[in-house]
Amino acid sequence: SVKGNVLHLLSFYDDTLRKRSIEDKDIENEMNYALEHGEFEMYLQPQVSIASTDVVGAEALVRWIHPTKGIISPERFIPLFENNGFIVKLDYLIWEKAFATIRSWIDEGYPVVPISVNVSRIHLYNSNLLERFIMLAEKYNVPRKYIELELTETAFFNNARELNYLVHSLKKEGFILAMDDFGSGYSSLNMLKDIPVDVIKIDRGFLNEIVATEKGKTVIRYTIAMAKKLNIDVVAEGVESFVQAEFLYHAGCETVQGYYYSKPLPVNKFEQYAFH
Ligand code: C2E
Ligand code: MG
Ligand code: MG
Ligand code: MG
Repeated sequence: SVKGNVLHLLSFYDDTLRKRSIEDKDIENEMNYALEHGEFEMYLQPQVSIASTDVVGAEALVRWIHPTKGIISPERFIPLFENNGFIVKLDYLIWEKAFATIRSWIDEGYPVVPISVNVSRIHLYNSNLLERFIMLAEKYNVPRKYIELELTETAFFNNARELNYLVHSLKKEGFILAMDDFGSGYSSLNMLKDIPVDVIKIDRGFLNEIVATEKGKTVIRYTIAMAKKLNIDVVAEGVESFVQAEFLYHAGCETVQGYYYSKPLPVNKFEQYAFH
């Protein structure tokens, strides 16, 4: 019967939720141990010049290399860690790995490319973000222009006042600032006139949805043109095909990041891809 099916579906849904919340508990029980035992690693995804296919940058993306569950993706644990505050420690670790990696590239004589790190919006509620980056740059003796901070568009939107001061200070200190997931919110264009970002990263979902129609293509073309007029670089995320890369190139976007070029890689694999 219909009623029987509905009840069956509901209990299935219930079981799924229960299983999910048990897994959430496991993640939270294991996170500190995992941090202390080096289970969190920094992967790097190449950022590529469309014209030359040279690697011109990298985004640092965390991976949990779990001893029994395999590689756990950040989408599974970042929301939990933003809720319980653990994200602060985890981001500190990944940022430190990014600085250490730049230092090792300088020491190895590699042609250094900047690394972008993700900065959770949770850091905006504690005031020593800027000090932490200055400290790390000193500790690893890394020029600040090699580190880019990615803040998501919605973080900018929800914390305009606090962010204004922080953003100006970061810029004054010489760090590069990127607005991540650009186009996923609703006030993107207007924010660009107020916030002195160096880079916008066009959101993968926005890009895929929009290049599917002529009107959408027009929106992307003018977004890129406007960013360029404002002296803002554009990186398109989630490029999965030659057709997309070609369209973006003609629209004036110079740099892309996506599976068409490379997935995020362990550091040694990234070095092979980028420097050899
Ligand atoms: P994000 O910062 O927007 O990073 C881009 C995401 O898109 C990455 O997912 C990357 O693997 C994925 N991606 C890149 N190219 C393609 C493509 O061509 N196709 C598809 N389908 N996906 C592509 P990932 O590594 O799973 O990270 C997801 C999100 O988790 C990130 O989105 C970021 O918001 C967050 N995150 C990752 N690492 C960190 C971290 O160390 N700290 C913080 N606070 N957040 C992080
Ligand atoms: Mg990012
Ligand atoms: Mg993004
Ligand atoms: Mg994203």
